[in-house]
Amino acid sequence: MFLVGLTGGIASGKSTVSKILSDLGCQIIDADKLARQVVSPGAPAWKKIRQHFGDKVLLENGELNREKLGEIIFADPEKRRLLNSLTHPEIHKAMLWKVFSLFTTGHPFVVLDIPLLFETGKVLPYMTYTVVVNCSEDQQLERLMSRNKLTEEEARGRMEAQMPLAQKVKAATFVIDNSGSLISTEKQVRDLHKKLQSSKAHWRLRLIVTSVFALTAGFIFYLLY
Ligand code: ADP
Repeated sequence: MFLVGLTGGIASGKSTVSKILSDLGCQIIDADKLARQVVSPGAPAWKKIRQHFGDKVLLENGELNREKLGEIIFADPEKRRLLNSLTHPEIHKAMLWKVFSLFTTGHPFVVLDIPLLFETGKVLPYMTYTVVVNCSEDQQLERLMSRNKLTEEEARGRMEAQMPLAQKVKAATFVIDNSGSLISTEKQVRDLHKKLQSSKAHWRLRLIVTSVFALTAGFIFYLLY
């Protein structure tokens, strides 16, 4: 099995591309979804956040008070780093577990939808291919403002908090140009899907796993007999 990292800029069209890939039968791991799961009441990162930040960052129903937590980490970079150090390892663990369970079911590849794939860089070395969803800065701004009901200033602030999209495009294996119609995007995603399906990259991991298995079995055999 090999891993495909899907990323882009905020509102450049990652979810749109991810949905098309899913409709084509691809297995998708959504990092945002996992990030929400690990901070749900009682989950590992939720416990750690409660321990370090106290009950003041919880709502009455036990859910995280995102607004309150946001205020704290926005004002204090040290606290932001602390929060990341509590949540990121749990997200990575959940991701690894998902990858492993898909590996055992024999899928040739899995797509990991990770908005900050290039910014955090942690899981980037494990991606065989990267796919960046691109569109113009004006389109990104317009789509972000309309989707999230933001002012131009708020939307620009969110865009500037990320690595410039052009830089991600340069680093990508594949680029989906989402500046045209949805039909054009769908066509490009279908072509990408064909390329991924015909890739032989999954044999590399199979070969490694089979070799490790054969060597271990050989070693055990040698010790026993
Ligand atoms: P991301 O997941 O990267 O944040 P989305 O896929 O949610 O971005 O797309 C952002 C917004 O732009 C959504 O409201 C989506 O419906 C819209 N959108 C995406 N692609 C196109 C397109 N090719 N043409 C017009 N609108 C689009």
